[in-house]
Amino acid sequence: MTDLAPYAVSERNSRGRKIAEAAPAGRSEFQRDRDRIIHSGAFRRLEYKTQVFVNHEGDLFRTRLTHSIEVAQIARSIARRLRLNEDLAEAISLAHDLGHTPFGHAGQDALNACMKAYGGFEHNLQSLRVVDMLEERYAAFDGLNLTFETREGILKHCSTENAKQLGELGERFISNRRPSLEAQIANLADEIAYNNHDVDDGLRSGLITLDQFEAVPLVAAHLHEVRRAHPDLPERRVVHETVRRMINTLVTDLIRQSERNIAAQGLTSLEEVRNAPALIAYSPEMNEQQRALKNFLRTHLYRHYKVLRMSAKAQRIVSDLFGIFMADSRLLPPQFQSLAEQDRARAVADYIAGMTDRYAIREHRRIFAVEEVV
Ligand code: MG
Repeated sequence: MTDLAPYAVSERNSRGRKIAEAAPAGRSEFQRDRDRIIHSGAFRRLEYKTQVFVNHEGDLFRTRLTHSIEVAQIARSIARRLRLNEDLAEAISLAHDLGHTPFGHAGQDALNACMKAYGGFEHNLQSLRVVDMLEERYAAFDGLNLTFETREGILKHCSTENAKQLGELGERFISNRRPSLEAQIANLADEIAYNNHDVDDGLRSGLITLDQFEAVPLVAAHLHEVRRAHPDLPERRVVHETVRRMINTLVTDLIRQSERNIAAQGLTSLEEVRNAPALIAYSPEMNEQQRALKNFLRTHLYRHYKVLRMSAKAQRIVSDLFGIFMADSRLLPPQFQSLAEQDRARAVADYIAGMTDRYAIREHRRIFAVEEVV
């Protein structure tokens, strides 16, 4: 990677890894982070975790794995255009959802409710726990020993209380400072990816219809343009063409506004990025439009009765499993029993959070079904 902006994260200004390692040959430190993430077990499990639709509901819906790959694609495009560290933006994007429970937000809310008396459960913090300690792949250390900058990017938000226990990584939440621009990009690329693919998946599932989007200016504008330019296009292709144009509009606006923000600050170093306000941002008009889309999706898709029914089932599975493992930790698989000796609730949460949708459903049956389950 040549010609990075002076305020980009680079190997020169990186705070490095917790455990010092020899520099990688033939790739950058951030490429090495990305490679470690891709080879982790938690990354492979993303394939069978819900984004909105539970994994068995259909083969074409996004999973957390394809979502993470889309986030990485969008983040890389933006980072490159802004002369920022593309490899770092990619590594953060691929790792950002590693700590997600099965069953999407319903699973996370259920586990958080179960963990209320034991410090709570937060998927961001869990992603960090996965890369810092839960992955067991290296002889010399627990976790993946990633660079500070990748770990900082994974921890998007964090309560002050939790931040106090995180040392260097928690500092910015206490002193109200910003993470790198690469981390800010990954955060917004996440939002661009899910808003757009949820439109696509929502339409494919039939839970929402194209006509409903007349009330959402960002979608309606592109939809009208596509229909005008291609009057005979089949509906599926109208959807794809519309979503493609929306992603492009959002990304282009984000790049333009961020360039403006960066220029206005006259940035010369990474340190200045951390002290400046958040600089990766949409224009005020686009911000308004994408918020309207988000609100629409919340009301009409995420709270659709069919999605809520699945969420209710998911909540039951998670809380049943939590309850039975807390009552008798001898039911846990051996590797979690030793963790449970130190902190039973956290070990149970680690076990449940690591499950895929289908594994959780099967484990629930194995434990609660009276008839034999293989
Ligand atoms: Mg995400």
